[in-house]
Amino acid sequence: MESLEELKNSIESLRNLFKDLKPLDNERVIEPSSNFTTMSDEVKDSNPYSRLMALKRMGIVDNYEKIRDFTVAIVGIGGVGSVTAEMLTRCGIGKLLLFDYDKVELANMNRMFYMPHQAGIYKVDAAAKTLNFINPTVIIKSYNMNITTVDNFETFQNELLHGSLTDGRIDLVLSCVDNYEGRMTINTACNDLGLPWFESGVSENAVSGHIQFINPGETACFACAPPLIVASSIDENTLKKDGVCAASLPTTMAIIAGFLVQNVLKKLLNFGEVSHYLGYNAINDYFPRMKLQPNPQCDDRNCIRRQNEYKEKIITKTTSEVNVPMETKNVVHDDNIYGIELVQDEVITNENDFSAGDGVKILQEFEKQSDVMEMKEEIMNDAIDDAMEDEADEEESDQVVAQLSGLNPASASLATSNKTSVPTATAGNGNNTGISDADADLQARLDNLRRE
Ligand SMILES: [Zn+2]
Repeated sequence: MESLEELKNSIESLRNLFKDLKPLDNERVIEPSSNFTTMSDEVKDSNPYSRLMALKRMGIVDNYEKIRDFTVAIVGIGGVGSVTAEMLTRCGIGKLLLFDYDKVELANMNRMFYMPHQAGIYKVDAAAKTLNFINPTVIIKSYNMNITTVDNFETFQNELLHGSLTDGRIDLVLSCVDNYEGRMTINTACNDLGLPWFESGVSENAVSGHIQFINPGETACFACAPPLIVASSIDENTLKKDGVCAASLPTTMAIIAGFLVQNVLKKLLNFGEVSHYLGYNAINDYFPRMKLQPNPQCDDRNCIRRQNEYKEKIITKTTSEVNVPMETKNVVHDDNIYGIELVQDEVITNENDFSAGDGVKILQEFEKQSDVMEMKEEIMNDAIDDAMEDEADEEESDQVVAQLSGLNPASASLATSNKTSVPTATAGNGNNTGISDADADLQARLDNLRRE
């Protein structure tokens, strides 16, 4: 039997323990140790970055340390968003902005990341604390708010513009929400700011999902191929049935989060190829991957504005590439065992006055110019081919866009309740085929259309 004094001491020590564990709202829970503050490539067991920095030695990335300069916003810290945040934290991202307004529930325990004792705590607070424990050098800023309300939308856009480590624009937005209203809000904000973002979703039956990269003007935005519910202006809340909830699996959510972060790393650290759209169907382990062009008839005026800007950029780039004088380089050999010497070409002033030697020089000059002409022609032809292909694809694109819009409805769970909406672009046409119904025929057509 413990004495009263011993019990008092035990209570006091427990109090101190809980004091350290209570949410600290955007403050660091623990100070980073020197092991974390320096991104070292030293191979030793106490270095948390040795495996990541090995990507440089393996020739995958040029400069892994650059990850510390990036700021990424994650909207929706649920089954996909929380795992995404954890992966980016473990990768040593510079700063994370977390947006959500839900609390952790015991019903979330079938997924990764949150723990039962966090039930009842706001997700952004619970997540910020756990992430801080994992890597204390990552700056975590949490926003306990619904971005779809008019007032919060302004705050949201402001944070995207000034939330980086240097108080400038952040680098990427990741949508991990489970409703269309949130997706359309992010779409509206990013089209307006010209900010790249990734959309992600997992189907209500838990066996399929997708990610989509949206670079305003370059790739299709969320409003370019809106889901049927958005296109028909149906309130998604009215579709929710009492006593029926969406299914979820930790596997599917972790796979989609993995796809998402993999493509975020490729985008930020400039390696590999970022997927425009990558789907996943767990039933037959089917991974459709396709390119998505923006819809010239998109209802979001900022999407059209970004599309025009992007076209201008491409035309300027193509023109400057065609007009760049081609450099000719002398071949340099390590050794010259036959003593062959190269002489500088002379400028021929009188075309009628040349010897046999001059003839060779003229031929060389002609070949050199022909090469340049051929290369210019090739670049121009490529540009024209691309333009013609785009034209030809346009008609079929409309049909594909209509089918794609069907991929989205199944890709999100039904919405949780939202309040006043920000005005978003009204949507066009769509049908309701569902991602799990994506068949080989659609895939074959999309592959033909979108393959580089
Ligand atoms: Zn669009």
